[in-house]
Amino acid sequence: MKTDVSSTLPLDAIAADASAVDVEARFPQTGIDELARAGLLGLGLPESLGGMGGGPVEFVRVAEGVAGACASTGMVYVMHVVGAQTLLAGVNGDADAGSTKGAALAAMATGRHLTTLAYSDRGSRGHFWAQVSHAVRDGDDVVVDADKTWATSAGQADSYVLAVGAPDTDDPLSTELYLVASDAEGVTIPSHFDGLGMRGNASAPLQVRGLRLSADQRLGGERSGFALMMTATLPWFTLGSAACSVGIAGAALDAAIAHAGRSRLEHEGSSLAQIPGVRARLAYARVRFRESRALLHEVAAAVAADDPSAQEGVLAVKASAAEMAIEVSDLVMRVGGGAAYSKHGPLERHLRDARAAAVMAPTTELLHDFLGKAITGQELF
Ligand SMILES: Cc1cc2nc3c(=O)[nH]c(=O)nc-3n(C[C@H](O)[C@H](O)[C@H](O)COP(=O)(O)OP(=O)(O)OC[C@H]3O[C@@H](n4cnc5c(N)ncnc54)[C@H](O)[C@@H]3O)c2cc1C
Repeated sequence: MKTDVSSTLPLDAIAADASAVDVEARFPQTGIDELARAGLLGLGLPESLGGMGGGPVEFVRVAEGVAGACASTGMVYVMHVVGAQTLLAGVNGDADAGSTKGAALAAMATGRHLTTLAYSDRGSRGHFWAQVSHAVRDGDDVVVDADKTWATSAGQADSYVLAVGAPDTDDPLSTELYLVASDAEGVTIPSHFDGLGMRGNASAPLQVRGLRLSADQRLGGERSGFALMMTATLPWFTLGSAACSVGIAGAALDAAIAHAGRSRLEHEGSSLAQIPGVRARLAYARVRFRESRALLHEVAAAVAADDPSAQEGVLAVKASAAEMAIEVSDLVMRVGGGAAYSKHGPLERHLRDARAAAVMAPTTELLHDFLGKAITGQELF
């Protein structure tokens, strides 16, 4: 990667739209267009495909900045990059431009294609690595019926990386991933997103009925879904989700510090920031923020370097950042007092946005369980 992208992010334009995206629960198309124009939809994709290059370290810097400006844009962006990385791993470095997957990767690399993940199955809920839906063999193709409970950018993305149980087996861990055009016959969106936070991210159910998929659309070999989820999706997603949490917490903290500095107690001739309890609360929040941010950058560097310590970090980083963002956004609400409680400022939006990561799979509880197993030498699955 030739330049430091984080210094040239189109954050002002993204931030300018953030309140309207939240209030109207509107997909953040302006922000995504800005990111596409800046080449950032191709971050992590090789320059030989027209992409920007870069890896996990650059990704977390960009995702943190974008989510700090607008959490919905950050989440849409993260799901795109994670989907693109999963696809890249699924072609195993051999992106034949004439193939469905090669053409899609080239379009993603050059900002002409937005993708996302459709993993969460109605029957296995947040245990996305296990699939209850099944592909059924039909000649050289498979036919799929599935109910996906959530897919960020549903109806807005150009494609979905769709997870489904592999044909000819009942093992829920035997899965396959397919690249599916969002306008494919058999894919509909039965209802729309009305969430507490990240209100513009368009996470909606997908109803899949009689969807015919060719082997050319499959990522990796037969029954390779689980391995791709663990080696490609999981590290990029936990980093991206953590970066969103860190970005949201940082934005909330900045807003609270500015509020405390400018809010006057005229009868005492001082500001809120001059009250010891207030500034101590801000200091504690800053410590929590910096701890999680340091872990984020440490784990991103470990993943980028293929360091053996990366697995533990991948399991820790999302839970750490998600819980930190909840705590920090709550603390700064107290600093902001009644002013923060109103919808005139950004703090209540940050509080709502911060709660998403903890319930997104793998949830904080699941990550703690996995990490507990890992550090005590037990099998994860
Ligand atoms: C904003 C947003 C965007 C999303 N985007 C996508 C997307 O793009 N693609 C996608 O596939 N999915 C997406 N999801 C879905 C998400 O990843 C989860 O699958 C979903 O939030 C799980 O919701 P649920 O109601 O099924 O939770 P459940 O799975 O029912 O979990 C309920 C509770 O049980 C706990 N729990 C479950 N199992 C265990 C266990 N073994 N040990 C301890 N506790 C446990 C959980 O931690 C949680 O607290 C998104 C979700 C949100 C909120």
